[in-house]
Amino acid sequence: MPRFNAAYLNLNQNYLFAEIRRRTKVFADAHPDVRLIDLGVGDVTQPLPPAVVRAMHEATDELARRETFKGYGPYVGYEFLRADIATHDFGSRGVQIAVDEVFVSDGGKSDSANLQEIFAPDCVVAVMDPVYPVYADSNVVAGRTGRADAGGRYAGIAYLPCTAENSFQPALPDRHVDLIYLCYPNNPTGAVVTREALARWVAYARAEEAVILYDAAYEAYISDPDVPHSIYEIDGAREVAIECRSFSKNAGFTGMRLAYTVVPKEMRGRAPDGTTMSLNALWARRTAIKSNGLPYVIQRAAAAVYTPEGKKQVQALVDSYMANARIISAGLAAAGFTVYGARNAPYIWVRTPPSVSSWDFFDRVLGTAHVVGAPGGGFGPSGEGYFRLTAFGSRAQTEEAVKRIKTRL
Ligand code: PLP
Repeated sequence: MPRFNAAYLNLNQNYLFAEIRRRTKVFADAHPDVRLIDLGVGDVTQPLPPAVVRAMHEATDELARRETFKGYGPYVGYEFLRADIATHDFGSRGVQIAVDEVFVSDGGKSDSANLQEIFAPDCVVAVMDPVYPVYADSNVVAGRTGRADAGGRYAGIAYLPCTAENSFQPALPDRHVDLIYLCYPNNPTGAVVTREALARWVAYARAEEAVILYDAAYEAYISDPDVPHSIYEIDGAREVAIECRSFSKNAGFTGMRLAYTVVPKEMRGRAPDGTTMSLNALWARRTAIKSNGLPYVIQRAAAAVYTPEGKKQVQALVDSYMANARIISAGLAAAGFTVYGARNAPYIWVRTPPSVSSWDFFDRVLGTAHVVGAPGGGFGPSGEGYFRLTAFGSRAQTEEAVKRIKTRL
């Protein structure tokens, strides 16, 4: 029999979203007449922007002609898309990013899970708590954490608690860490970071020779003018920060798949013999080994997001989801719940009633309101006592879900 990689056996229970799907299916199978509303996993529901669809059709036609056919593309993404990303996502905000610092990939999930691979196995990892579970899990399977305790905590992870008591802003680690995962706007709490707080993280990373893995998958949802959109708006970040972004939640690419990671050329790491080398070069090498690049059609579709028409259509999607966020937030507050988020992020972070655990609350909302949410505890130990709803449902579903929670809970 084959022997398993023991690190995989250190994973806590099921992947959160798989467990949500499992419980939902058990309930749906037992209650076939119930119409469930899913505000749990956080998948978008609106169709692709028309500019994106048109670009896909055109790109498909290119592939149909011998003269314009494309085979294998660049591992790191086509230059036309990388240039658009550098210009529109960064240049427009006064941040200089070079085309060869942008690595196009199939997902923010894959990037945030894979980046740890190029760092030493004994690196100490810090994660916001609660947060998107992939950062912790990918380090568990890489063997950095050991087994979790009974409360689900890994001794090898430095948790950075984010709760209402600290306004969901984690303190700097009280010990040395090497890799710091920051997610802003935050999934699941919806919190954003101030420029001053982000500057403190950059200063910490520089002082500790640490790397910040900055996940800005929800950047498009920032509406407060003072909130930084990129970590590179902070002086000194280019030496210490990698930034990941995704087309999933702004342009509706959850089924299309496209994201990117920025690795500035100033970033350097140390080899075991003490010599230093470029992180950008190592990530490029790793990408060449493990990726074939993304389909041409999808990259053309992504580039359409940066056309004037595409920008307007994407903004309309974001606005519409944020209107849902306000409906949920106001509705639940009116029903007496304590609610956070919903301002610069498409997530509503709700306190569960006193002494009701987050999975019990999940089951209660599923069983009585027939609404699927996500239990806070699944995002990390400090998420216990909270519950997440997403703003990605249709308007009708969103309004109905709020009505059901208000009247049935
Ligand atoms: N990062 C965060 C914080 C997320 O919440 C998600 C998806 O929910 C992702 C990354 C994944 O994005 P992608 O669809 O590009 O893999």
